[in-house]
Amino acid sequence: YEHRAGFQVHRVMNSGGKIPLGLKRKGLRIVVTGGAGFVGSHLVDRLIERGDSVIVVDNFFTGRKENVMHHFGNPRFELIRHDVVEPLLLEVDQIYHLACPASPVHYKFNPVKTIISFQFFFFFFFFQFFVTNVVGTLNMLGLAKRVGARFLLTSTSEVYGDPLQHPQVETYWGNVNPIGVRSCYDEGKRTAETLTMDYHRGAGVEVRIARIFNTYGPRMCIDDGRVVSNFVAQALRKEPLTVYGDGKQTRSFQYVSDLVEGLMRLMEGEHIGPFNLGNPGEFTMLELAKVVQETIDPDAKIEYRPNTEDDPHKRKPDITKAKDLLGWEPKVSLRKGLPLMVSDFRQRIFGDHKDNSGGA
Ligand code: NAD
Ligand code: UDP
Ligand code: UDP
Repeated sequence: YEHRAGFQVHRVMNSGGKIPLGLKRKGLRIVVTGGAGFVGSHLVDRLIERGDSVIVVDNFFTGRKENVMHHFGNPRFELIRHDVVEPLLLEVDQIYHLACPASPVHYKFNPVKTIISFQFFFFFFFFQFFVTNVVGTLNMLGLAKRVGARFLLTSTSEVYGDPLQHPQVETYWGNVNPIGVRSCYDEGKRTAETLTMDYHRGAGVEVRIARIFNTYGPRMCIDDGRVVSNFVAQALRKEPLTVYGDGKQTRSFQYVSDLVEGLMRLMEGEHIGPFNLGNPGEFTMLELAKVVQETIDPDAKIEYRPNTEDDPHKRKPDITKAKDLLGWEPKVSLRKGLPLMVSDFRQRIFGDHKDNSGGA
């Protein structure tokens, strides 16, 4: 592997993370699957800024070219339209594997606006998940094995299901319904974690696993039905904020720049994980609605809607492990992060002017 760009850097990093004086850091070649998506595009910005060469592999299922357009023309940036379900041959040092469709339960299904049936809609997503998480992850692990690259999987807090332990520690195995409406996502990611550990143990691939908790920020999909994007878009459009169920269920919301910092520390560090990456600040959906009202429109109304099946009651990460081993913790509170997302949403919804910098 001597010819690989960055080989020296691996050795330097392994010797304590400090680059000796006089030795300039050599750029790495890094693949980011799903790099045209919300989290991926922010990660790409940081890697390019650091001086690395980045190849984004994305099939644009939920990602957008606009998220990475500002790198077009940079010789250290490349965008490949490719579905990770198909094999991929590249020579790289690191693989950040983010490619994954968002959960189907998030999407609002409008039978009037579409000719496909409800069942078909869910089956289509179910199929996308499984195939992307299982076959896609397998292919990227095969690639990592062939070229000796380090592989990072972005797993999810949903592997804990509707948790019986609170807050969730990495050693908790989870409470997942294998036959529920959201199981395809939970189980798809659980299988991806299994494959990742199998390639590590069986083929010696260097792996890292991040379990990401709810993350928000600029470039988030406006219509994917997630609670932060829904509330922000609704408040801006002067529509009522839709609270599902009694609004007492909790989530912990992490700003995207904190997550990206955590992912990079995990990749560069010496620990496999899994690591919870999330903000431990816990909010009920009603409290979140209040923060959105304070940030955007104090007169925004609240409308209650029935909740989805199997909706986890509570979710909050225990991040002791990431603090101790990666020296990482989130820095941006919900009240600080939300306005940064609001300006991006305002521009995209009302088309004020085009700015792809992400606003942060
Ligand atoms: P996103 O939908 O914005 O990004 C995912 C990207 O993957 C998109 O650009 C999409 O086009 C691409 N993609 C999907 N299927 C693909 C395929 N078969 N081949 C190639 N590209 C494909 O979602 P995100 O929020 O940026 O999530 C990134 C990763 O983080 C995902 O793996 C997700 O499961 C994980 N995650 C995110 C959150 C969150 O709150 N955002 C929480 C937990 C886990
Ligand atoms: N693979 C890939 N790119 C590579 C190497 C492998 O996409 O550079 C895919 C390959 O097509 C296979 C998967 O990764 O489907 C697993 O590869 P591995 O070598 O582990 O298994 P095998 O090919 O021996 O079944
Ligand atoms: N939710 C809500 N109103 C919305 C969208 C979601 O009250 O418009 C609730 C949803 O029922 C869940 C929580 O917000 O309890 C978080 O949902 P999201 O889909 O954002 O993330 P996840 O369920 O994957 O944590």
